[in-house]
Amino acid sequence: MHVNPGRIRAIRSGEARGPVIYWMSRDQRVNDNWALLYALEIARKLNESLAVVFCLTPRFLEAGTGDRSYRFMLDGLRELEQRLSSLGIAFMLAYGDPGDVIPDLIDDSGAGMLVADFSPLRISRTWKSMVADRVEIPFHEVDAHNIVPCWIASQKQEWSAHTFRLKLKKHLSEFMEEFPGPSPPPRPWRESVENRWPDPGTQKASGCRIRSGERAAAEQLERFITEGLERYASHRNDPARDAQSGLSPYLHLGQLSAQRVALNIMALGDYTEFLDELIVRRELSDNFCYHNEHYDSMEGMPEWARRTLEDHRNDRRDYIYSYDELEGAKTHDDLWNAAQLEMLIKGKMHGYLRMYWAKKILEWSESPEDALITAIRLNDRYELDGRDPNGYAGCGWSIGGLHDRPFKERPVFGKIRYMSYEGMRRKFDAREYINRISRMADQ
Ligand SMILES: Cc1cc2nc3c(=O)[nH]c(=O)nc-3n(C[C@H](O)[C@H](O)[C@H](O)COP(=O)(O)OP(=O)(O)OC[C@H]3O[C@@H](n4cnc5c(N)ncnc54)[C@H](O)[C@@H]3O)c2cc1C
Repeated sequence: MHVNPGRIRAIRSGEARGPVIYWMSRDQRVNDNWALLYALEIARKLNESLAVVFCLTPRFLEAGTGDRSYRFMLDGLRELEQRLSSLGIAFMLAYGDPGDVIPDLIDDSGAGMLVADFSPLRISRTWKSMVADRVEIPFHEVDAHNIVPCWIASQKQEWSAHTFRLKLKKHLSEFMEEFPGPSPPPRPWRESVENRWPDPGTQKASGCRIRSGERAAAEQLERFITEGLERYASHRNDPARDAQSGLSPYLHLGQLSAQRVALNIMALGDYTEFLDELIVRRELSDNFCYHNEHYDSMEGMPEWARRTLEDHRNDRRDYIYSYDELEGAKTHDDLWNAAQLEMLIKGKMHGYLRMYWAKKILEWSESPEDALITAIRLNDRYELDGRDPNGYAGCGWSIGGLHDRPFKERPVFGKIRYMSYEGMRRKFDAREYINRISRMADQ
C-alpha cells in the first residue's frame, strides 16, 4: 500500500538516491505515522537504509530544557528510540537549530532524500525554509498529523467550525484509511548510532502525573474507550467529573495519531460529539495557523472582534493582575485559581475551564493585546499540550472572538462572548472541583 500522494508535498524536488532521513518533529511515534511510512516506502524503492532524526533545541517557544514539557517529550523519545531500533531504523538525537543541524547531517551521512512531518507553526516553517535553502537533495513534507491534509482541507482560512466541517466531510472518506504496519527498511544504517541524552536528572518527567510515550498514549485511549466514551457527550463540560479523554498531550506530541483514535472510535458507533472535537475543531486550528500568519496576536483576530474590543479599550476594569499574580494563581476568584493550579500541577487544565480561564485574563488585563500575550505565554509554558495550533485557536476564540460570533455588548468584552463565575457555578459543582484541586495541591 502506498501513502496517499495528497498527503505529500515536495518542498524541494529532484531525484532521490542514497539513504533516507526522516526529520521527525511533530509526529513522535512509530505506529500510524504517514511520514515514517512514506520514508520507508522511499527507502524500499531505493533499496536503502533509513534514519530518523530529532533535533533538540534549547528552547521551543515558551518551553525549554529542564521544563516539565521537555522532560515529558524526552521520555517519549527514549521509548521511540527502542521501538525504531527493533525495526532496524536508526534514531539520532541531534542538538541545535534544525536549520543548521539537518543540512550538516545530510552532508555527513551522504543521505539522498529528506522527509519531514508537517506543522503550520511559524517556527517549523522557518526551519524548513532554512533547510530547503541549504540542501541539494529532494525534500518532501508529509501531513501525518491531520486526517485530511491541511492543504487539501481548505485553501483559505475558515471562519467557523460550520464552514470547515462541510469542507472536511468531502475528503474524509478518501483519507480515513487504515494504516499499514511499519516494516524494516532493506538495509541497516551504515554506522551504529550512540545518542547522547540530556542529564538523567532532567530526564524523568518528575512532577508530571501524566505518563509519556506511545505505549502510555495507547493505554490512555483504551481507558477512555472503556471508561469515558459513553459519558463524554453528557459530561465533558463538567470539570468536577473529569469526563474528557485526556489524549491531548499525546496528540500534541504526535505520540498518538488522531486518525488512529478516530478509526477505533468510529468502529464502535456514532460518537459525534467526541469526533467533532477530535476532527473538526482540532483540524480547524491547523487551518487557522496555516492561513493566518498572525495566529498568535490580536492582528490575526476577526475584524468585528477587534473593532468591538477597540470600542471598549478604555472601559474601567475592576481588577488588573500582573503576569506574576496570574501565574501564581493569586486572584480573588477561587475557581480561576483552581484552574490555574490544575495546569501548574498536572500540566493539563480541564477544557471547559480553559475558556473561562482565558476570558478572565481578558477581563483582568490592561488591554486585549496584553491578555492574549499572557494567556498564550502561560498556556505554552505550563500545558503539556501547549505550543500547539489548538492553543492559539483556543486563546484566540476566548479573547479575540475567533471562530465565534458577536454576543450582547457589555463592558470590557464588547461583543465577545462572556462567561461569568455564577454561570460556571450553575453549570457544574464548582466547589467539588475546587476541593479536588486543593487536595491535589496538598499531595
Ligand atoms: C484558552 C484555551 C487554550 C487551549 N489550549 C490548548 C492547547 O494548548 N492544546 C490543545 O491541544 N488544546 C487546547 N485547547 C483546546 C481544548 O481545551 C483541549 O484540546 C482539550 O481540553 C484537551 O483535553 P482532552 O484531550 O481531554 O480533550 P477531549 O475533550 O477529550 O477532546 C479530544 C481531542 O479533541 C481535540 N479538541 C477538543 N476540544 C478542542 C478545541 N476546543 N479546539 C481544538 N481541538 C479540540 C483535542 O485534540 C483533544 O485532545 C485550548 C482551549 C482553550 C479555550
